[in-house]
Amino acid sequence: PRAVPADLGEALHATFGFNAFRGVQEQVVGRVMAGQSTLAVMPTGAGKSLTYQLPATLLDGTCVVISPLIALMHDQLRSAQANGIRAAALTSADTDREATIEAFRAGELDLLYVAPERASQAHFRDLLSRARVCLFAIDEAHCVSEWGHDFRPDYRLLRPLMDAFAEVPRLALTATADAHTRADILTQLGIADDGLIVAGFDRPNIRYAIVPRDQPVRQLTRLIAETPGAGIVYAQTRAQVERLAEQLGATGRPVLPYHAGLPGDVRAANQAAFVASEDMVMVATIAFGMGIDKPDVRFVAHAGLPKSIEAYYQETGRAGRDGDPSVALMLWGAEDFVRARQRLSEVDEARLGGERTRLDSLAALVETAACRRALLLRHFGEHPPEKCGNCDNCLDPPGVSDATDVARKLLSA
Ligand code: ADP
Ligand code: MG
Repeated sequence: PRAVPADLGEALHATFGFNAFRGVQEQVVGRVMAGQSTLAVMPTGAGKSLTYQLPATLLDGTCVVISPLIALMHDQLRSAQANGIRAAALTSADTDREATIEAFRAGELDLLYVAPERASQAHFRDLLSRARVCLFAIDEAHCVSEWGHDFRPDYRLLRPLMDAFAEVPRLALTATADAHTRADILTQLGIADDGLIVAGFDRPNIRYAIVPRDQPVRQLTRLIAETPGAGIVYAQTRAQVERLAEQLGATGRPVLPYHAGLPGDVRAANQAAFVASEDMVMVATIAFGMGIDKPDVRFVAHAGLPKSIEAYYQETGRAGRDGDPSVALMLWGAEDFVRARQRLSEVDEARLGGERTRLDSLAALVETAACRRALLLRHFGEHPPEKCGNCDNCLDPPGVSDATDVARKLLSA
């Protein structure tokens, strides 16, 4: 057993080299160290990983981390290992399984990353009972809720597994949960209501703008010309990504495509080039961005309607993590809403209510003549001032005719 430093700040500096906790990190770490199960809702880039990684290095035993994507898992693994944290993953992609299991049972791991489907396997439960687990960390915890935007049935298997180890505290983490989803996550993962900690969602350095799409290539070209630095343009399909990447090449900036249809080595190379670049434009589907650590992204553009307010917030949140001024531009068209409504007709009964509410909220964000940021923050349960002074509607209030125009476009959709 290691000595727990009296001062968590000392441990933070020793392991990560950081001088201070950010926002609610300290509060979350404090709860975990005290054995209290917690749901922490913190925006992307707020530093969720640290809230389980630091306790994992201090507590006796291994923190079992549930993470939905193998690529994400390996990013986290590498960065934990780079900080000297003893971490391993147990996935079908990892060849050194025996060594990992051995180290886990011998108490030589701080972190063990696993995919949610493992939770249902009897031999995994067995393995846990023969090792010492200090914490269950559930990353992307909104995946447990049908109200969330990314429901994964395997997450429902976590509760029975964790209930078998009732004395082990749970830390659920998500960037994206409205009030309804939060309540559901607490229930689904068996965390008490008073275990909820919500960080502020405001990203004051991001300037939000949402405009009708008339000439997307020209609109995006103008954004790129006006915004030095690296940026991301989200398109909706692989074909759109390919086409836009080619068209935006005319801006003279380096442009690369990224989507799930590209070979793995090309994706990895494009991602690495983007992370290293100071002026590259990545044209991508939403497959791009999760787990990417690039603080100086100066703009995020959506060439079409995002999936939800949560998705919009998460995707635009990849801009300006260094705190410097950044732009989030969304181009939308009536046909985006037509398509979204068509998709509603394919949703099964259980999810229809949630999906419909999600689309209505998104329409409200697009439609509003009032402050975008205020609407966003209210969506996440905050009570922001009426005007932010740093969104399109605050900076350039729409005239009556503009507002009617938007409403008409939406109604005709
Ligand atoms: P999230 O999962 O909430 O999106 P991450 O855990 O990936 O965020 O952290 C985002 C970035 O912030 C990482 O580069 C991380 O090293 C950095 N970071 C986290 N906590 C701190 C801190 N207290 N001080 C400085 N940087 C931090
Ligand atoms: Mg994370």
